[in-house]
Amino acid sequence: MIPASPLFSQIPPAHPVERTARWQQLWREAITDPIELLRLLGLEAHAAELLAGADTGFAMRVPRGFVARMRHGDPADPLLLQVMPGTGELLDAPGFSTDAVADLDASVAPGVLHKYSGRALLIATGSCAINCRYCFRRHFPYAQETAATGHWRAAIDHLAGDPSISEVILSGGDPLSLSTAKLADLTAALAGIPHVRRLRIHSRLPVVLPERVDHGLLDWLERLPMQKVMVVHANHANELDESVAEACASLNRAGVTLLNQSVLLRHINDTVDALVDLSERLFACSILPYYLHQLDRVQGAAHFEVSDQVAIALIEGTRARLPGYLVPSLVREIPGATSKQPV
Ligand SMILES: *Cc1c(COP(=O)(O)O)cnc(C)c1O
Ligand code: SF4
Repeated sequence: MIPASPLFSQIPPAHPVERTARWQQLWREAITDPIELLRLLGLEAHAAELLAGADTGFAMRVPRGFVARMRHGDPADPLLLQVMPGTGELLDAPGFSTDAVADLDASVAPGVLHKYSGRALLIATGSCAINCRYCFRRHFPYAQETAATGHWRAAIDHLAGDPSISEVILSGGDPLSLSTAKLADLTAALAGIPHVRRLRIHSRLPVVLPERVDHGLLDWLERLPMQKVMVVHANHANELDESVAEACASLNRAGVTLLNQSVLLRHINDTVDALVDLSERLFACSILPYYLHQLDRVQGAAHFEVSDQVAIALIEGTRARLPGYLVPSLVREIPGATSKQPV
């Protein structure tokens, strides 16, 4: 979710010698036409009122399996609202910019951000299987960056040269959009750095395209000689169907600790009931809630914003109903801070 040069800018599959995996096929079959999406949901009569009439500058993209979890005939479905280019995106709201989180300052080598003590973040790729309307990735044309194997070397050299780094975070975009072969190459190099003890992967793929969690991926993770954490991203309990539960259970068996980050989004998860259901469902899928983010103020996302006052009341209401380990930390990203900031 960050505007630095990605290490690879790949539309899968990358390796010409690799067979196209099932998940890569499903990736390519994603729905990119908003009218087709509305038709599948029986909502074509609502097109004029729902869809942004003008170009929003950020294409729609949603895997079919994710669409199957949306409620038929419901224009307010919480999954639909996350992906549909709606009329709200064309509003010009004060304070919402195309550069909400100034991250380039933290770039210490091409594709490497080192903002927080002990952990460095690698922008592995700019690709995502889904385009989330509230994401600030909407303003960064990663696709125009060229593939950069040389960058990857420079990134590894940087990590190897800084013994304060004990955790490497693969982020993007979505790092699991890279082929498993490419991920294995990258982590083979990381495994050779003695001070790097943990690998963390930030990915929405286990939720939006659980087929990505295939035998090859599990085998790679199981063999990795490091502690493994995966931070997935779901905002609503309805995203977590049985296919997601199975994918997450198998990640768990492969030795991966699973956490979730969500974004607090108006009309999507801004009730205590929605947050409680999300936490309960996450835990049923072997995932612990980690962060609930206040929205980054990116242009085109103002209609998703929830005020701090309401956000705090929601998290207090959630705390009154759940065990402490199912209550996420409410945070916001502040440029220049030494960690995510509690709200
Ligand atoms: C969010 C972020 C992290 C991870 O922060 P945690 O609090 O450890 O989850 C690390 N590096 C960068 C640059 C980040 O933006
Ligand atoms: S998957 Fe993550 S990085 Fe990709 S568009 Fe959605 S929020 Fe942004």
